[in-house]
Amino acid sequence: MMKRLGCLLLALALAGSLSGCGSSGPAEGQTFAMDTVMNFSAYGETGEDAITAARERIYQLEAELSRTREDSEVSRLNQAGGEMTVVGDDVWKLLTSAKTYSAATGDAFDITVAPVVSAWGFTTDTYQVPSQAELDTLLRLVDDSRIQLEQRSDGCYAALGQGQSIDLGGIAKGYASDCVAEIFAQYGVESGMISLGGNVYVSGAKPDGSAWRVGVQDPQDSSAAVGILDLTDAYAVTSGGYQRYFEQDGKRYHHIIDPATGYPAESGLLQVTVVAGADAAREDDGNPAGTGTMCDAFSTALFVMGEEKALDFWRSGAYEFDLILVTDDGRVLVTDGLADRFTPMDGSEYSYETVS
Ligand code: ADP
Ligand code: MG
Repeated sequence: MMKRLGCLLLALALAGSLSGCGSSGPAEGQTFAMDTVMNFSAYGETGEDAITAARERIYQLEAELSRTREDSEVSRLNQAGGEMTVVGDDVWKLLTSAKTYSAATGDAFDITVAPVVSAWGFTTDTYQVPSQAELDTLLRLVDDSRIQLEQRSDGCYAALGQGQSIDLGGIAKGYASDCVAEIFAQYGVESGMISLGGNVYVSGAKPDGSAWRVGVQDPQDSSAAVGILDLTDAYAVTSGGYQRYFEQDGKRYHHIIDPATGYPAESGLLQVTVVAGADAAREDDGNPAGTGTMCDAFSTALFVMGEEKALDFWRSGAYEFDLILVTDDGRVLVTDGLADRFTPMDGSEYSYETVS
C-alpha cells in the first residue's frame, strides 16, 4: 500500500545515469531514517566525512522530532498538557517556521493537524476512516495560532494549546535537508546531492560544471518521470497523495490532510514540486530555518490549496520559488522561472504548460 521510495530512487537513478562518471566518483551513502530512504552523494576529499556527519545529524533530528518516540522533544511537548516547556534550537526553528508558513498559506499548512492525522491511522499504520463526529471534535484542536513561543533569558520555550499536539512530518525532512546543506558547507563540499524521501538538495554543480539532473516523479507511475530538472545550488521538494495511503471500499485515502475539512485533500492536484535556489528563504522573512524547510512546507500546503490558489500564491511573489504541478486531468504546469531548467519526458501522455 505504501509507495514512498519511487521519487527519490528515480532522482538518483537519473542523477547517476545521466550525469556520466568523472575519473573519481563521489562518496555515497544511504540510510533509512524519518520513515524514508535517504541518499547522500558528495564529491571531494571531505565527502566521506561530510556524509558521516550528515547521517549523525539526521539521527539526532529523528530522535528530537519523531512523534512516535516517547522520549523525543516533540513527544514531550505533545504530552506537556499546554504547559510551557523548554525546547532546543531545532524544535524552536521548526515551530517558528511552521507558524510562518501556515500564516502565509492561509492555514493550508498546520502542524496541529496531528490528532486528525492520527485518527486516520497514519501515525500507527492502523488505517481507518474516522466518523464525522470524531473529525468535528478533533478539528477544534487544529489551530497553530494557539502555539505560544517565548524566548527567555534561560532558553526558548513553547506551549501548545490545551489538548493540542503537533506533527512535524510535513516539514521535518526539509529542515533536515537544510541541516545537511549546512554540514556540506562546513566540510567544504562544493558538489553534492542529497535526497531525503522526496526532498532533494543539490550543492553547487557537478564537478564538470554541468547542472545536477533531478527526475520529477510521475505521480501515476512510480517507475516513470514527468520530466527532468537541471539544478545547481537548489532545493526541489515533492509532495503527492501517492506517498502514503490506504484504500477502503474502493476509495483511496492519503496522508495529506486538509485542515479545513479533516479529510485527505482533494484539490485536483496529484503532485506538487516546489523548487527554490538555496538562498531563497531569508531570516528577515520570519523564517530562521532555511530553504529546504520552506519548500517542504509549501509542497504540502500547495497540494492542499489546489491549482488556482497555489498559482495565486506563487504569483503573489511573497516568497521566491517555482512550481511543477501535476493535475488529475493530465496536465503538468511549470512556472516560468523553470522554463529553461525543466525538460518534459519524451513520449509522455501529459500535456505541458508554462505558467506566468
Ligand atoms: P511526505 O512526508 O510524504 O514527504 P509531506 O511533506 O507532504 O509528505 O508531509 C505529509 C505529512 O505531513 C503527513 O504524513 C502528516 O504527518 C503531515 N501533514 C498532513 N497534512 C498536513 C497539513 N495540512 N499541514 C501540515 N502537516 C500535515
Ligand atoms: Mg512537506
